[in-house]
Amino acid sequence: MRERVYIALGGNIGDVVKNFCRAVELIAQRCTLTKASSLYETEPWGLRNQPNFINAVIEIETALSPEDLLHFLQEIEDELGRQRQIRWGRRTIDLDIILFGSRMIDTIELKIPHRYLLYRDFFLVPLLEIEPDAEYPADGRKLAYFLERLPQQLRTIIGKKEDSLWKDTITSLLRAQ
Ligand code: ATP
Ligand code: CA
Ligand code: CA
Repeated sequence: MRERVYIALGGNIGDVVKNFCRAVELIAQRCTLTKASSLYETEPWGLRNQPNFINAVIEIETALSPEDLLHFLQEIEDELGRQRQIRWGRRTIDLDIILFGSRMIDTIELKIPHRYLLYRDFFLVPLLEIEPDAEYPADGRKLAYFLERLPQQLRTIIGKKEDSLWKDTITSLLRAQ
């Protein structure tokens, strides 16, 4: 069975947009890319003293299991030069699974929905950009409802970032499939 999955991309060192494009190309080798959000420039969440981030969300369809998808994304992170140091610290690329169909998963390795989905505007805003009706699987409440209520001090988005490499990469991947 193929399921609809949302993946969040984040990064704040090196050529982030180039890494995002490479990551999406690699993901598209084993999964079908169906949508991609704009790029957003954001202030760091949780660990302040570091460069601003770029964030985006993509929608894919995949036949991989959640665990296999996680491992596939970790291989891509490694290939793009991610050093695993501190949680929430600077990184070339971070690929998090935020929703996997309507599944709820709670293992040591994998929590789905992502444990901070409801607290991060840099997940919710790009996700709602590409899927305005997205719901929280546990109770079917609209994610737009949680975003509206997100307190000001948790808001990190500075603005959208236009980038022709991202646009062109997404357009050509969507067309190729
Ligand atoms: P955060 O989880 O707060 O976004 P992070 O992305 O910086 O922090 P990482 O160091 O990238 O954290 O990942 C730590 C571990 O989180 C991974 O080894 C993975 O097993 C686990 N994990 C749990 N749920 C998920 C998920 N939904 N997507 C990706 N990784 C997850
Ligand atoms: Ca993360
Ligand atoms: Ca991560």
